Amino acid sequence: MAVSPPTPAATALLAGVRGRCPNCGKGHLFSGFLKVAPHCDACGLDYSFADSGDGPTIFIMMISGILVVGSTLLVDAYYEPPLLLLAAIFLPLMAVVSIGLIRPFKGLLIASQFRHKAEQGRLEL
Ligand SMILES: [Zn+2]
Repeated sequence: MAVSPPTPAATALLAGVRGRCPNCGKGHLFSGFLKVAPHCDACGLDYSFADSGDGPTIFIMMISGILVVGSTLLVDAYYEPPLLLLAAIFLPLMAVVSIGLIRPFKGLLIASQFRHKAEQGRLEL
């Protein structure tokens, strides 16, 4: 593993959002849609530290909840469309927003773990 000197925070976090290695910015962070690769295919960084847990899900739930549910309530308040029309528009929108944001947020949190060396701060219980 060739860990270079500290990567600037913005560069590392942006690489994570793009699904790239937070160390070099070139290798792939994911081997599947959400599955983290075992190591970087460019610099060899071991991704065993990467454990974003439920973090991305919580952010996505809050963001999509505010955007989509808020939009649904506004449309309902102003136009009073039939309930089935609201469901036909906003349920797929909820799925698209959630699925579209989950991977960038997971990459962002993993890059943040790398940048702040979160794996070294674990408590031994
Ligand atoms: Zn790398």
